[in-house]
Amino acid sequence: MDFEFSEEQKILRQTVRRFVEEQCPREYVRELDHTGEFPQALWQKMADLGFLGLPVSGKYGGSEGTMLDMVIVIEELAKRILALAIPFTNTIGLTNKVVSALGTEDQKSRIIPQLVKGGIKTCFAWTEASGGTDVLSMRTYAERSQDGKKYIVNGSKMFITLAHISDHIFTMVRTLRNPPKKSHGISCLMVPRNSSGISIHPIEKVGQKSTGFCEIHFENVEVSRENLLGEENNGWYQLIPLLNGERTCFSAICLGIAQAAFEDAVRYMSERTAFGKTINHFQILQHYVADMKTMIDAGQLLTYKAAWLETMGKQVSFEATEAYLACSNMVHRVTDLGMQILGGYGYTTEFDMERYWRDGRVFRISPMTTEMAKNFLAQSLGMPRSY
Ligand SMILES: Cc1cc2nc3c(=O)[nH]c(=O)nc-3n(C[C@H](O)[C@H](O)[C@H](O)COP(=O)(O)OP(=O)(O)OC[C@H]3O[C@@H](n4cnc5c(N)ncnc54)[C@H](O)[C@@H]3O)c2cc1C
Repeated sequence: MDFEFSEEQKILRQTVRRFVEEQCPREYVRELDHTGEFPQALWQKMADLGFLGLPVSGKYGGSEGTMLDMVIVIEELAKRILALAIPFTNTIGLTNKVVSALGTEDQKSRIIPQLVKGGIKTCFAWTEASGGTDVLSMRTYAERSQDGKKYIVNGSKMFITLAHISDHIFTMVRTLRNPPKKSHGISCLMVPRNSSGISIHPIEKVGQKSTGFCEIHFENVEVSRENLLGEENNGWYQLIPLLNGERTCFSAICLGIAQAAFEDAVRYMSERTAFGKTINHFQILQHYVADMKTMIDAGQLLTYKAAWLETMGKQVSFEATEAYLACSNMVHRVTDLGMQILGGYGYTTEFDMERYWRDGRVFRISPMTTEMAKNFLAQSLGMPRSY
């Protein structure tokens, strides 16, 4: 067993860390949280520096990095700037993965080189207002046109991250009216955002302000059949195994936020005084720090293990979910302890701790709720399905 990263991976981490230090000052990141803007210029810089091609095949201009490389980059970005870490996970990691696995040659050459150049952004639309956990209750329907060349999409999606700035909305639709099972008859369409009949409404949220999420309405939206990704009616079975592995990337985002909270808390403890000494002398706060570090390290080991398994081409759904369950709980707990250590200042917007706390909270809800992660693990351990 070898716990060391390779020399290349250490250099990759240093390179991203330097990019973040030089290009993403804390003040700017705070500003983004207020304006809710997407940092397009920085995204383009990431493309110019070759970061956006990291997981992509050399054939399409990428550098063929592994899942472990992805985790390193995501962790470092999330430590400072979620506005880049989240699209890097969704637009680059996930889109490259699904288009590479399921796309036709034409789709691959249309989409993937553009991802690498920063030319397009994407989002994934599964959830509907009727429920995200029970995602198979979805009703958005795509009907074939009479000439069979197009789909006509009607319905709506809810809480879709980055929909307002995406060029393509990867939309899960029903393509069978009366499927024998709820998981049958689902297809994935790459819907251009500027299609006639689409309306997008941003929703106000608690954290992660610079990666807005939206409600999308589709009213008789015409989508070319060339934009069907994978097999018609078989989308659920084709996409789910690919998405399960992505939980590792979301675990890495939790790790980045938690590490930032940990470092800020430790620094604050060495500066703030009470009863004539700095507060890092108080044993109970020292114990908080010990707990924070232990939780972060445990989450990191599970995340790196899941990333390593995927890098080795092994089955990863269980381990990626374990990592995600641990990290989504961990970031909630670590940022809460961080706030406790900063006392009243932790609850002000003068410090970043409240942002870490807001940003980290959502991972117990999305992309998967804590309860559903536990259901998945219990079922994988042979327990009967509880719902
Ligand atoms: C910030 C954010 C970004 C998002 N981005 C996207 C996106 O880009 N694309 C997308 O498609 N969706 C997105 N979502 C939606 C997200 O995936 C859902 O919010 C999530 O799956 C939960 O669904 P829900 O909100 O409908 O809650 P519900 O499904 O209504 O769940 C409510 C509660 O019931 C519990 N529950 C439900 N069923 C069970 C069960 N069988 N056993 C035990 N407990 C159960 C849940 O765990 C939860 O605690 C996003 C959500 C948020 C908050």
